[in-house]
Amino acid sequence: MQPSVHGIHHVTVIAGDAQENLNFYVGVMGMRLVKKSVNQDATDTYHLFYADGAGTPGTDLTFFPWPALPPGQLGTGITVEVPFAVPTGSLSYWQERFKKLNVHFEAPEMRFGEKTLPFTDPHGLQLALVETDDVRDFVPWDKSPVPADFQLRGMHAVRLWEHTLDPTVALLTGPMGFKKVGEENNWVRLAAKDGGSGCFIELKAMPGHPHGEWGTGAVHHVAWRTKDSDEEMSLQAAISRLGLRPTPQIDRFWFRSVYFREPGGTLFELATDGPGFDRDEDMAALGEKLILPPWLERERHKIEIGLPLLNMPDVKKYSF
Ligand code: ZN
Repeated sequence: MQPSVHGIHHVTVIAGDAQENLNFYVGVMGMRLVKKSVNQDATDTYHLFYADGAGTPGTDLTFFPWPALPPGQLGTGITVEVPFAVPTGSLSYWQERFKKLNVHFEAPEMRFGEKTLPFTDPHGLQLALVETDDVRDFVPWDKSPVPADFQLRGMHAVRLWEHTLDPTVALLTGPMGFKKVGEENNWVRLAAKDGGSGCFIELKAMPGHPHGEWGTGAVHHVAWRTKDSDEEMSLQAAISRLGLRPTPQIDRFWFRSVYFREPGGTLFELATDGPGFDRDEDMAALGEKLILPPWLERERHKIEIGLPLLNMPDVKKYSF
């Protein structure tokens, strides 16, 4: 059978100040901090994971707070926007919420027949909320300041600018198993095998536009769901047959990962659905303590004193 990814697993972004990032995603957006860890390749930096109530794959937006970096630059070969799914009828709630909390948002627009509210996080990341009736794997977060009916259902899509589309489309529709499902206003929409919300990637050709740059507010990488390690390894083999150079499988403890750059330059990851965020913490206590993978545990003291203090925001202040 043709291997295929099964939609978005997580998206990882570079943030500015860690406390501002925490206040925005837990307070304003009402997400659950499901894991407080460190960047496994730079342990003086947090890695903060925000998701639904259970850390369901596809709901997880993660950040490396690197406030010393300059702002990122939108451009080709980079993810320029991360749209999230919300239930149909909830955009008016979110517009009111954004007005009260001074979040910068644009006028709602229709994209591929879906009502969409573009907005920006405090460090410049471009996001959107998209109304959809598609059924999602989702567990509400009962301590969220946002009522369950309006909570984010997970990433709906990712939007990328490319210098030229054909090589990226060949990767997506070849080894990664996507199908082209729409074209509108110079955006091409493709859907991973299972289709629907959470399975979309949207590409726009921007020839002549400079290459995007990593920095605060810029997307670092997009990870795509694979069922298990065997499926991930067969995708890795298919991607290397195309002439790309995927890494060996890396154990990220909560999932297993393979990284590669798509032909336009965007960093992609394949990530397994399991073992999951409750591998090292009770589901009820996710995100409360600094969690290190076992191989970093013996350096815990040194790592902890190198990290800034973080305080959970008072969600009562954000509850309306
Ligand atoms: Zn990742």
